[in-house]
Amino acid sequence: MDMSLYPHAVAMSADEFMSWSTALINDLVSSGTRRTIDKLTGPIWSWAMKNSMHPLHWGLACCALEMAQASAPRFDAERYGMIYRSSPRQTDILLVNGWISKKIRNDIRRLWEEMPGPKWAVAMGECAISGGPWYDAYNCIQGLDQILPVDLYIPGCPARPDAMIDGFMLLQKKIDEYFKRGVILKDRQGL
Ligand code: SF4
Repeated sequence: MDMSLYPHAVAMSADEFMSWSTALINDLVSSGTRRTIDKLTGPIWSWAMKNSMHPLHWGLACCALEMAQASAPRFDAERYGMIYRSSPRQTDILLVNGWISKKIRNDIRRLWEEMPGPKWAVAMGECAISGGPWYDAYNCIQGLDQILPVDLYIPGCPARPDAMIDGFMLLQKKIDEYFKRGVILKDRQGL
């Protein structure tokens, strides 16, 4: 470890802080310290993140009604800590629940890029998975995976609320694995 980096954290300009913090992170990674910290704190982040999933609150088409029903009293998705947020900056899950027209492709990509990482993309329903009834249509994207790395597919036309809750329970396992393996070191922002 390069100890000259450490007693240094006060009274810096923004540029100085950026170059210092980059050097510090590189040092923590190369010395293995960051991996150790991630291993020790991973279970805490994993527990917190998987029990407080915050999907973006928006709906594209008919599967969005199933999403709404999942939060209604009968299915009560909130007992899994699922609370919808209306700003991409406060969300960690992009739930795409309808057909993806070519007009909205860039907006979906921009919403995804505005979300902080680690983040997860979910394709809900046949339209978001593969085009569904709009298979091979001139105006629709043939699946979310053509514009984003998809973590979870929830099949159905429509995908029922219980299928959605089942899918999110699978996503909880994936979040758990993500932190357990220490892959927090990998930055998914660029994906
Ligand atoms: S999968 Fe079926 S129910 Fe869901 S948005 Fe597409 S057409 Fe509508």
